[in-house]
Amino acid sequence: MGLKVCKFGGTSLASAGQFRKVADIVLSDAERKIVVVSAPGKRSKSDTKVTDMLIAYAEAAISGTGAEEARRAIEDRFADIVRELDLPEDELNTIIALLRSRGEGNRNDRARFIDSIKALGEEFSARLLAAYLRKEGHDFIYVDPKDAGLILSDEPGNAQVLAESYELLKPLADSPHRIVFPGFYGYAKNGNLVAFPRGGSDITGAILAAAVGADVYENFTDVDNVFAADPRVVERPAAIHEMTYAEMRELSYAGFSVLHDEALQPAFNAKIPVHIRNTNNPDSRGTLISLERHNQEMPVVGVAGSADFCTIFLSKYLMNREKGFGRRLLQIIEDAGLSYEHTPSGIDHISVILKESAFTPEAEDRVLKRIRDELQPDKLFVRRGIALIMIVGDGMSQQIGIAKRATAALADSGVNLEMINQGASENSIMFGIRGTDLNKAIVALHNEFFQS
Ligand code: ASP
Repeated sequence: MGLKVCKFGGTSLASAGQFRKVADIVLSDAERKIVVVSAPGKRSKSDTKVTDMLIAYAEAAISGTGAEEARRAIEDRFADIVRELDLPEDELNTIIALLRSRGEGNRNDRARFIDSIKALGEEFSARLLAAYLRKEGHDFIYVDPKDAGLILSDEPGNAQVLAESYELLKPLADSPHRIVFPGFYGYAKNGNLVAFPRGGSDITGAILAAAVGADVYENFTDVDNVFAADPRVVERPAAIHEMTYAEMRELSYAGFSVLHDEALQPAFNAKIPVHIRNTNNPDSRGTLISLERHNQEMPVVGVAGSADFCTIFLSKYLMNREKGFGRRLLQIIEDAGLSYEHTPSGIDHISVILKESAFTPEAEDRVLKRIRDELQPDKLFVRRGIALIMIVGDGMSQQIGIAKRATAALADSGVNLEMINQGASENSIMFGIRGTDLNKAIVALHNEFFQS
């Protein structure tokens, strides 16, 4: 029998009704042996995710005001789920006791304290789903990440999996029971609970899928499939049913938010296909992400962009003959604690593209001063409000004229190009444009490649 790891996101578990849908999906296929869950998400647009409620509770406990009220709101959300699923009162008592005892933990280390509380949403989801499946007469157990051996680096809110976890988690494949596992957190070697970055339950699912050598990692969310462009920007964007890991990686870098971008790596390394599916419409085809795609007709699979960029531009006559110029420039960026995104360059000039939100005015002052003092450029300035937009597709390298079509579409809609960058892998072309042109450019490129 095959083995599937399936992960359900926050909206899939937002209410008792959603828990029932998840249970139906899990039970409809005996190969779905390992189920990873997020904390309950939003029931409606104006609702609050449980993870955000937990963070608010932790912060209130630190500040000393409003903790009781914040905690009661969380208890109420779980009380509704427990009652509507007709689960034993004890399940709720465990939740309440854990919420209270963690809230009394050591608050000296703020980040650690917040991690210990915000991870409870996933733990409660997993406990309740396992309890519900058992009540319905099926053999499911809740498995704690500590007992299973999900060992992470000791970086609160930004943890990474340690390589030894994979061996430790492997035996889950042979468990006599089916498993419900909380996403989003694990434990450092010193025993501290540590969380992944936000959205990190995707990462947990991918790690488990890799560890047990799953046939597929099913990622259940609230959309039928991945779209070729952001549906908030493009009306009725084309559906993508198949894409490669490399394409998904490029698109999530450029702004797609379907899957946490770190989640692909464990699946990619272990060559496990990732199938994105909809909890609210489980019969839809979804999007399969794997090493190769069969449908090679579409040269471009998606268009994405983000407006959070800025560039440091510098020029200096005969820059090309100065050894180590680029290294010294990037060293200054590194010393400021910044990571750079791209460095388009010419003979006598170079631009360094950074995330605008990370490049604060203070960082800018420090960095420009050092560049002026140490590199003596002829010209130096920063331009903010830049957007990077990308067209992505493994088939592009095989077809002539993709860049021509893209630049013509952008020109026809009045978008000025400030930079063009085609990486060595030839599976994406990136354009630097003004941030205010971003949506216009996304629509123009989507229509060029998906409406003809
Ligand atoms: N619940 C966590 C968050 O909201 C993790 C997740 O859902 O993946 O970020």
